[in-house]
Amino acid sequence: MTQNSAQGASAPMIDIRQISKWYGDFQVLTDCSTQIARGEVVVVCGPSGSGKSTLIKCVNALEPFQKGDVVVDGTSIADPKTNLPKLRARVGMVFQHFELFPHLTVTDNLTLAQIKVLGRSKAEAREKGLLYLDRVGLSMHKEKFPGQLSGGQQQRVAIARALAMDPIAMLFDEPTSALDPEMVGEVLDVMVKLAEEGMTMMVVTHEMGFARKVSHRVVFMDAGRVVEDCPTPQFFSTSEQRSERAAHFLAKIL
Ligand code: ADP
Ligand code: MG
Repeated sequence: MTQNSAQGASAPMIDIRQISKWYGDFQVLTDCSTQIARGEVVVVCGPSGSGKSTLIKCVNALEPFQKGDVVVDGTSIADPKTNLPKLRARVGMVFQHFELFPHLTVTDNLTLAQIKVLGRSKAEAREKGLLYLDRVGLSMHKEKFPGQLSGGQQQRVAIARALAMDPIAMLFDEPTSALDPEMVGEVLDVMVKLAEEGMTMMVVTHEMGFARKVSHRVVFMDAGRVVEDCPTPQFFSTSEQRSERAAHFLAKIL
């Protein structure tokens, strides 16, 4: 997997610097910071409403924030001179509800943004799209519409679509939480492979098995704050000192 990089190898790929965000009077994020190195896999977890989706959307500028900065591969989101659509095109995002275009075939879903955003030719986009469709094991479904696929298959198409853009990092917001249990594994398998290939990944998930096995670090959020940010073994180690909220969360979920 090619990862185009503007910065030296040691600079973080994603640098979230003390961001705060308000929806009107409601402060949804307070002073959130974390750094994600190249090739690092970071799981973000925490109770519902703690700000996980909001934080991850700030990383590719889908949500504005009022204080702090997010620097992605050396590009500052807070800098008014930054071309945000260009930056967004370089960071892959996978959502809970797939968000495929229902009226387009799988192939057209895979090629649309490559053509419109990256200016690739139809042939080039098709070749690239089908390559990634093959990687997620769905080549035989290329002419189908999303509605003809299972939830797990749709999510794998959504991942292939994001990868076809040659992203420098991938963001996942609860990619398996809308799936029937029997389909969770096939999506996680694709994500595990991606992690093994060295993709930089920020993953909001409650799949603690994935977090434990695949992630390098866990960020725990509560009430809009990063409460814990530590290496994965430490997060799961019962002997470590940890916040009461994280202990409570883990006790409920494990
Ligand atoms: P999580 O993903 O951890 O469940 P979210 O980031 O979705 O949390 O939401 C964090 C908080 O912000 C919640 O209290 C939610 O109700 C609130 N919120 C989310 N989106 C909006 C919005 N567009 N306008 C106002 N409040 C919002
Ligand atoms: Mg969420």
